[in-house]
Parts: sequence; C-alpha cells; structure tokens
Amino acid sequence: MDRKIQKVAVVGTGTLGAQIAIQASFYGYEVSAYDLDERSFEKALKRMKVRIENSGRTPTLSVEELKEGAKKVKLCLDMEEACLDADLVIEAVPENLSLKRNIFQRLDSLAPREAILASNSSSIPISKIESATTRPEKCLNMHFYSLDLGRNMVDIMGGTRTRTETIDAGKEWVRSIGCVPLTVKKEILGFCFNRVWRAIKREALHMWADGFVDFRDIDRGWMIWTGMSQGPFGFMDAVGLDVVYGIEMIYYSESKKPTDHPPEALKAMVDRGDLGVKAGKGFYTYPNPEYKSSDFLKR
Ligand code: NAD
Repeated sequence: MDRKIQKVAVVGTGTLGAQIAIQASFYGYEVSAYDLDERSFEKALKRMKVRIENSGRTPTLSVEELKEGAKKVKLCLDMEEACLDADLVIEAVPENLSLKRNIFQRLDSLAPREAILASNSSSIPISKIESATTRPEKCLNMHFYSLDLGRNMVDIMGGTRTRTETIDAGKEWVRSIGCVPLTVKKEILGFCFNRVWRAIKREALHMWADGFVDFRDIDRGWMIWTGMSQGPFGFMDAVGLDVVYGIEMIYYSESKKPTDHPPEALKAMVDRGDLGVKAGKGFYTYPNPEYKSSDFLKR
C-alpha cells in the first residue's frame, strides 16, 4: 500500500514547476523545491502576474493566493535536501530526454524508496524515463497545464510497469490540490488534451511560417470563435517558444514526418532569444501585447 502523500518535492521551478509547487503548498502540502538557478522561483512568480493580466482568465489561485502559497515553499540549495522525506517528487526541468533521465536517476537515489516520481514533461512518455530508476512501478507522467491561466487539469499516464495504486494515488493527489485528472488509458504521445491542443498549434505554426496568413488573424479567429482572450500565438508566447520548439521536435523525432518538423522561422525566433513573455518579446511584445488592446478584434 502506498503511503499517503504529505510532502511534495518539485525539481525545476521555472514556469510550470513554480506553479505546481505553489498550488501544492497553497492546498496545505509541505513543499520543498530545487532549481539550478536560485532565482528561478522568484522570476517565475513575477511572470505569473504578467501572464494572468494578459490572459484575462480567472487563475486557479489569485495573485494574493499565489504569494501566500509561495511564502510556504521551502527553496533548497540542492536536490538532496529537496527530496528529503518526500512522498511525491515532481520533475519540471526542460524538455530534454537525457536531462530528464539523468534527473530521475538522481531522484531515485535521493528520494525515499516509497516515493512516487512524476514527470511534468509535455511530450515524453514516462516509459522512456522509468528505466533510469529502480522503481518503474512508482513512476508516472503528471502533466500540468497553466494553472495561472485557470487550466486546472492534469494528464495522468503510466509507463510499462506503473502500478494501479501509483496512478490512483496520483489522481487522488491531483484532486486534492483543486485540479482535475485526465487519465490516459493506453500510452500515446501528447497524453490527453495536450495532444488535441498540439494539433491546433502545429497547424497554426505552419500556416504562419509558410506565409499563408498573419499570425494575428489566426489569434483573432480563435478569440472570436472560442470567446477566449488569447489565441494560439499569444498562448505559445506564454508557454515559452523554446519550450514549444522542444515539444514539436519530440513529435517530429517520434514520427519522422516532415509535416511534424517545427518551422525554421520558429527556430530563428528561439535563436534570437525572442522566447515570448519570459523574454519580453515573442510573437507579441510584453508586458502589453497587441491582442490586449481594445480594438484588436475590430481591425
Ligand atoms: P522553464 O525553462 O521555465 O523551467 C525549467 C527550469 O528547470 C529552469 O528554472 C531551470 O533553471 C531548471 N533546470 C534546468 N536544469 C536543471 C537541473 N539539472 N536541476 C534543477 N533544475 C534545472 O521550463 P517550463 O516551461 O517550466 O517547462 C518545464 C517542464 O514542464 C518541461 O518538461 C515542459 O515540457 C513542461 N511543461 C511546460 C508547460 C508550459 O506551459 N511552460 C506546460 C506543461 C508542461
């Protein structure tokens, strides 16, 4: 029987890791966190404020609640300290298979034997990471969406040997922090809703990069159609274009289909450092992107 999750460790406190740590801490869990960059948590917290303002969505936690949750997260100077007594460890480092395998190998040696190890990867199935550990039965994908943009859902997917108890414990924990688990029954790249979103993103990127349409018109269409306050390009800026590019490359390396290769124009933006909200410039410029202006949908 798995022990009840009480202490959570988060490794990598960038855009998503910081949100996960704060959400868990706000809902009463003891949370410790570690990042190579000592300032990443603080920087991510600042970005959440900008993202919330730009999205026009109701965040899972208000800015005040985010601050409250953040105060209780214990920021550690090394991974060992963060993993001490953890019942659940969530990895949220950049989207790179060898990096994630390396982190999982270390987590396996540092976290208690009974601890569940979860990856927040956007595209890498846990079946590709689990063998870096001696506990594949306790490994799973736990893919969060942008909590700061009100997306309180989490894809849950097991690997080749994940025990049902591990999946169930993951789902129960996700519910306990105010999120909805979306369970994947059979391994598929992209998990549940993320794969649907990815199909939209790929099409939008190619239509823009191949010169068929201006990206703003795709965003306008999306915003009018769905009633949302941000289109696919505005949202990709919020995610980070380096992250988007990395995810698209994972799909391409899996399928080898040229239509899955992310456009060179996207790569050029990443190389220039135009990474979206976190860099102050991506498809739009921040903190006041064009799509927020009152006449954006009237032009
Ligand atoms: P990010 O670049 O904002 O943050 C990654 C953090 O990991 C950085 O702070 C970096 O300093 C840290 N890091 C790098 N190497 C490390 C190491 N060896 N040890 C500890 N920390 C290390 O990236 P992100 O957007 O938060 O993405 C992280 C993961 O979450 C990726 O797998 C991504 O696919 C996934 N994800 C991202 C989003 C999103 O909207 N950005 C959504 C869902 C899932």
